[in-house]
Amino acid sequence: MVNPAPRVERMPAIQPAARRVTILGSTGSIGRNTVDLIARDPERFQVEALTGHRNVQLLAEQARQLRARLAVIADPELLQTLREALAGSGIEAAAGTNSVTEAAQRPADWVMAAIVGAAGLKPTLAAVRRGATVALANKECLVCAGDVMIAEVRAHNASMVPVDSEHSAIFQVFEFDRPETVERVILTASGGPFRSWPREKMAKATPEQAIAHPNWSMGAKISVDSASMMNKGLETIEAFHLFPIAKEQIEVVVHPQSVVHSMVSYADGSVLAQMGTPDMRTPIAYALAWPKRMKAPVERLDLIKVGTLTFEMPDETHFPALRLAREALAAGGSAPAMLNAANEVAVAAFLDRKIGFLEIAAVVEDTLAARPATSVANLDDVAHADAAGRRAAEDAVARRAAKRLKQ
Ligand code: NAD
Ligand code: MG
Repeated sequence: MVNPAPRVERMPAIQPAARRVTILGSTGSIGRNTVDLIARDPERFQVEALTGHRNVQLLAEQARQLRARLAVIADPELLQTLREALAGSGIEAAAGTNSVTEAAQRPADWVMAAIVGAAGLKPTLAAVRRGATVALANKECLVCAGDVMIAEVRAHNASMVPVDSEHSAIFQVFEFDRPETVERVILTASGGPFRSWPREKMAKATPEQAIAHPNWSMGAKISVDSASMMNKGLETIEAFHLFPIAKEQIEVVVHPQSVVHSMVSYADGSVLAQMGTPDMRTPIAYALAWPKRMKAPVERLDLIKVGTLTFEMPDETHFPALRLAREALAAGGSAPAMLNAANEVAVAAFLDRKIGFLEIAAVVEDTLAARPATSVANLDDVAHADAAGRRAAEDAVARRAAKRLKQ
């Protein structure tokens, strides 16, 4: 079945002089890169709201630097600290999860959705429901609620511009007027830090080793996802929701140089690719200026210096997360939300040194096996699947952690 999602972007009728923007998750890796671009071009942007989880000092510093109207810290205990850090600036301060969603509801033309994990779902949806242009970094919200989210994008005439580098690449070369001529969408994967490691060595990998990505500098969770290749699995599901293509049309190739960010192949044999150096400021700048382009201070691609581009088949026995994500996409319903929830729990347990690296995929597999997929029609169903996935994964982690202690 072809995903009936239409092109998820739309051309704004008028381009306002200054774009009013909000950044959800401004203190993270994507958030900091977004702040960096905006700070270099202050005339072009007016900042409505910034949100963070616990890093009050950085949030306050960003809010002062960009003259934001509102700063929200998700942890309610930190309200007083935020107020003190913003004293005398005239910037409004708020705290708590509901305030993060309220920040997304404030009038901004453009909202960067860069909260990590399922926690980003409600605020992202709030921005979509205002009909805003949503720059989507938070892939987990499309993985667990893709159908619901895309239906809301359409219902509210919102625009969704992908920030994930692969999806930004596809977005830039996808002929939305002729989707029937698209044969394949080819997602590239770096293969992560463990691409050439034997399984025995991967079993003993530490969080520090998993986070040390060879090409990209990213937050901890997505770095671990890249090492397990779950990231590419989540991105396969993300691509299905973003583009009018069938599940079977999505392929993954390993491309260790991370120069070709993804490709689309057409009926006439043409393959269109988007290339660049691995710096997230390029896809962020693309989303920030869309439908125009802006200058980004990234290193320019020098193909002579790169010399060789290589491509190889992913090894699904080595990286079972890829297969698990494909199976969850095929099963549909609650399966992707459970996959995502189980992965979030398992990655957190690995970062806490409760389980080993290879056990991340094992916990996800146990979870999916324990809970058969049910249908998902609305956000309550998604929340239910997410909670069930988390509970089953926590049980699986506890069993594995207890076994480790005995050994
Ligand atoms: P990060 O961990 O560096 O930052 C996450 C942000 O979310 C921070 O601002 C944090 O304060 C906030 N946050 C975390 N938990 C929260 C909660 N419970 N409530 C409210 N806010 C919370 O992550 P990142 O690497 O910037 O990634 C953000 C998203 O973008 C992820 O979904 C990731 O998959 C996606 N993404 C990241 C990259 C990258 O290069 N970093 C690339 C592609 C996609
Ligand atoms: Mg990516």
